[in-house]
Amino acid sequence: KESSGRENNVAKIKVVVRKRPLNKKETAKKEDDIVTVSNNSLTVHETKLKVDLTAYMERHEFCFDAVLDEHVSNDEVYRATIEPIIPTIFQRTKATCFAYGQTGSGKTFTMKPLPIRAVQDLMRMLNQPVYRDQRLKLWLSYFEIYGGKLYDLLSERRKLCMREDGRQQVCIVGLQEYEVSDVQIVKDFIEKGNASRSTGSTGANEESSRSHAILQLVVKKHVEVKETRRSNNDSNESRGKVVGKISFIDLAGSERGADTTDNDRQTRIEGAEINKSLLALKECIRALDNDQLHIPFRGSKLTEVLRDSFVGNSRTVMISCISPNEGSCEHTLNTLRYADRVK
Ligand code: ADP
Ligand code: MG
Repeated sequence: KESSGRENNVAKIKVVVRKRPLNKKETAKKEDDIVTVSNNSLTVHETKLKVDLTAYMERHEFCFDAVLDEHVSNDEVYRATIEPIIPTIFQRTKATCFAYGQTGSGKTFTMKPLPIRAVQDLMRMLNQPVYRDQRLKLWLSYFEIYGGKLYDLLSERRKLCMREDGRQQVCIVGLQEYEVSDVQIVKDFIEKGNASRSTGSTGANEESSRSHAILQLVVKKHVEVKETRRSNNDSNESRGKVVGKISFIDLAGSERGADTTDNDRQTRIEGAEINKSLLALKECIRALDNDQLHIPFRGSKLTEVLRDSFVGNSRTVMISCISPNEGSCEHTLNTLRYADRVK
């Protein structure tokens, strides 16, 4: 797209759709696969009923930067989305990658391997002489936004708060950052973080579908800090100057934004918060795409936290995950329409 503005030949905003295969349950119920993919477009075949109850088919066609079908591996997803962005991280770019979609559509399945592969590539670059001499280091943090509040997933779900400094930089007070020295550490952190994602009496997946999980990899230029100057409320920049970063965001289930009429008050509040954040996110990406000077990031906690990634040198990848089964038709169409508005 012309308006996307290309630097380093990497599109500023990329919208990708990933379709998962039918699962055992859907196959057992003999559900149809209603999504067909061809190149970078896809068609949803919706069965509708006339007033006399005879069925007819309505086709919905969509086109995106890339459409990945059920045969595409996680490694291919990485190569189509994150790999081209990696070098830009060393050129002061802040990148974000979102996984959007209804619960069960494959967001976590898609997102989990991406930071691991990214760390492999980032480490390889850090070890190149040109960067090694600059004393760059890689840091990782992992937190969650649940009901509009922030929790550190790597330190016992400690509640965090956000602060803006004088230069309009967002700072998450108390967020633990860990130095990444090898890939195994990242795998362990992701396991640990995922295990502490919000879980309630209703079961793990049910609750985690109501939170946004944000994993950030930050490349910093190392500076020696004298022991005496170090304090507990060190800012994010305390251990060096940020060169660039990439955030991986496993968004709350998109259908949760519709939980606004639920009988349970807490569920309604959370639903409203999710709805607000997904709408704000869409508006921010659209503003970014139009090179608007005003980015409406104040619309939600999610977009406020990502504020620094929506200004300046940014890259955004939206991976919209869809389920192929007939029963998910409405949610699938909603997801595709959302992605269509973003692109
Ligand atoms: P979400 O995070 O969107 O709720 P998950 O990532 O947990 O969904 O996926 C739901 C189920 O579908 C999981 O069991 C997952 O392993 C499986 N799954 C998702 N995407 C794929 C895929 N592309 N290929 C195979 N299995 C998948
Ligand atoms: Mg998930």
